[in-house]
Amino acid sequence: MPELPEVETIVRGLRNRVSNLRFSRVEVGLGKCVRGSEQSLIQSVRKRKILSVERRGKNILLRLSGGVVLFIHLGMSGRLQVVPGDAPVEKHTHAVFSFQDHPRQLRFVDPRQFGRLFWEKEVGGELTALSRLGPEPLRISALDFSKRVRARGREIKPLLLDQCFLAGVGNIYADESLHRAGIHPRRKSHSLGEKILFRLHQALQEVLKESIRAKGTSVRSYVDATGARGGFQNLLRVYGREGEPCQTCGTAILRERVGGRSSFFCPRCQRLPGGKISRRPLAPHPRNPRKNSCIIKTRVLQ
Ligand SMILES: [Zn+2]
Repeated sequence: MPELPEVETIVRGLRNRVSNLRFSRVEVGLGKCVRGSEQSLIQSVRKRKILSVERRGKNILLRLSGGVVLFIHLGMSGRLQVVPGDAPVEKHTHAVFSFQDHPRQLRFVDPRQFGRLFWEKEVGGELTALSRLGPEPLRISALDFSKRVRARGREIKPLLLDQCFLAGVGNIYADESLHRAGIHPRRKSHSLGEKILFRLHQALQEVLKESIRAKGTSVRSYVDATGARGGFQNLLRVYGREGEPCQTCGTAILRERVGGRSSFFCPRCQRLPGGKISRRPLAPHPRNPRKNSCIIKTRVLQ
């Protein structure tokens, strides 16, 4: 699923390509990709000019003339394409937006059909669709972050994924930041001290900024608005690396379900207080392969 860095990358790409264009025709091929009435969405956005393209959490916001905001949530596999109007229509294209006096189209493609388009009229600077979203992880201060975490009594990983708690973080960046901060994904949020939470706040910001610089993580189908893949998948330290050595200590990365989601972590760098370190075989130490050599033998024999 596209998370904050991927959505931010898409938004930056769209901003250059569709700002100041005016919608002419809107076609929706799959009703379920529209939240609310399909006709109402079409009527509300056509003939309106795109004033700005913004991101809030994992939502893309197209602010249109007349105070109308078109929201796009990409779900699991949604993509936005800005292509010439005569380009072949890709399979799973569910909505097509054409522009006045401009040959390009904005197309919404979504094979798994979890993405949604919806609209709202902004009243008094408020948007109902965003009212329950938590703060942006790149804007919240370390102190506020720490206070919010400690006020909850939940496991830290599912808490980071809760969009009402923090907007934009998903499975990849929760796992990566918990590893950098040395926190087990099952640690109870209220048991974490301020110092370690400052470390987590810093790790989250670093991971998100590094990924934005790399134009996101391309696992599965993610590409940006220009069709380009991201590069952060090459910099992942734990996510998707089950059984590979931890880059810090050489211990094999584990994968467990936490809060119903696959979680990747290092059992040595991210210890659970009172918990035992897994007895799984260790992978070779990255800088000193001989360090775990007897264990490597065990691993080969298994
Ligand atoms: Zn480690």
